Amino acid sequence: MIPIAKPFIGEEEIDAVTGALRSGNIAEGQKVKDFESAFAEYAGTSYAVAVSSGTAALHVALLAHNIGTGDEVITTPFTFVASSNSILFTGARPVFADIEENTYNIDPESIVEKITPKTKAIVPVHLYGQAADMRRILEIAQDNNLLVIEDACQAHGATYDNKMTGSFGTGAFSFYPTKNMTTGEGGMITTDDKSAAECARMIRSHGSKQRYFHEMLGYNLRMTDMAAALGLVQLRRLDGFNQTRINNAEYLSSRLNKIKGIKIPCISGHCRHVFHQYTVRLNSESILRDDAASLLSNRGIGTGIYYPLPIHKQPFYKQIGYNDSLPVSERAASEVISLPVHPSVSKSDLDTISEALREILSGC
Ligand SMILES: *Cc1c(COP(=O)(O)O)cnc(C)c1O
Repeated sequence: MIPIAKPFIGEEEIDAVTGALRSGNIAEGQKVKDFESAFAEYAGTSYAVAVSSGTAALHVALLAHNIGTGDEVITTPFTFVASSNSILFTGARPVFADIEENTYNIDPESIVEKITPKTKAIVPVHLYGQAADMRRILEIAQDNNLLVIEDACQAHGATYDNKMTGSFGTGAFSFYPTKNMTTGEGGMITTDDKSAAECARMIRSHGSKQRYFHEMLGYNLRMTDMAAALGLVQLRRLDGFNQTRINNAEYLSSRLNKIKGIKIPCISGHCRHVFHQYTVRLNSESILRDDAASLLSNRGIGTGIYYPLPIHKQPFYKQIGYNDSLPVSERAASEVISLPVHPSVSKSDLDTISEALREILSGC
C-alpha cells in the first residue's frame, strides 16, 4: 500500500527524544524554548509560542488577540473543522466565506461580502500547503481594521511573495504526524506582536507568568520537551521534505495533465506551494470520485478526501443554526481527491499512481 501520509522518523529523531527522556526534564523545559527560537527564526517572526496542538495554537492565538463573545471571525468552510471550532471555543461566531474555484483557498471577494460591524478578524487557511491570496486579504483587513490570524497548519515553509506563511499576521501551525513536519502532537503560534506572544504564553499555562500567580483565565496547553526535541530535528529536515514533495508533485502533474477528467493542482505565481496535499479535481463523466478512490485503494494506492463535507454542512454546525449556501465549496467537496506525494513516495510509486488513474478514467 502507498499510504496517503507517512511521517519520516529517523535515528536522529529517536536519539533526540530519548535524549530528552534521559535528561529528566520531560515537561515544558529548555527544549521547548530552543524549538520556539528555531521556529521563530525559520518563520521570520519575532516570537513563537509552542503549544500542545494546532487546534490549541488557533485557540490561543484568537484569545491572545482578545477575540471572544460578540465578535465575528470570517474563515473558510473548506478546511479541517479545527479552523472554525477554535473560533467557537472563544465564544465568537465563525462566518463562512466561499472559496476560489482553482486554489480551494478562501475567496477575498467573498470575505468582503461577509464583513459586518461585528467582524473582528479573518482566519485564512493556507490549504494543502499553498498560501491564500495574502495581498488582497491584507488589503481587506487594513481597509476594515481587521486582524489576520493565519491557519498555517498545512503550510510549514510555504511562502507568498517570498514571505513565509505565518508571518503576515499571527500564525498557527500544527505538528500532527500527517503534516509536513511532526512532533507527534504539537502546535506553534508565530507573531511579531509582543503583547500577543506574552498573552499566549500565559494562556497556555493557566494565565500565569510566575508559577501559582494567575492573572487571567488560562488552560494547560503546553508542549513537552520530548515533542520539542523531535520538532527541532524535523525542522532541520523540513526544507528537504518540502523539496521532495514539490518534486513529486511536479512529476505527478507532468503525468496527469494529459488525462481527460482530471484537473491538476493550480499553483499561484505568488506562491511556493509545499504540497501538504497534492489534490486533484475529478470531473469525469465516466466515474464518480468515491468510486475512483475505491478502485485506487484496490490497487494499493491510498488517497484522502480533504474534505468530504464543508463545515457549514456538518451535523453539529447545522444543529447550531448554520444554513449557508456556499456553492464553490460544496462542489469542491464532491470532486477533490488527494494523492500521495509525501517524502517516502518513490518515482515508481508515482508512475503506479498515474498509470492507475489513466486506466480508471479511460474505463480500462
Ligand atoms: C491539522 C489542522 C489543524 C489542527 O491541528 P491539530 O494539531 O490536529 O490540532 C487545524 N487546521 C488545519 C487546516 C489543519 O490541517
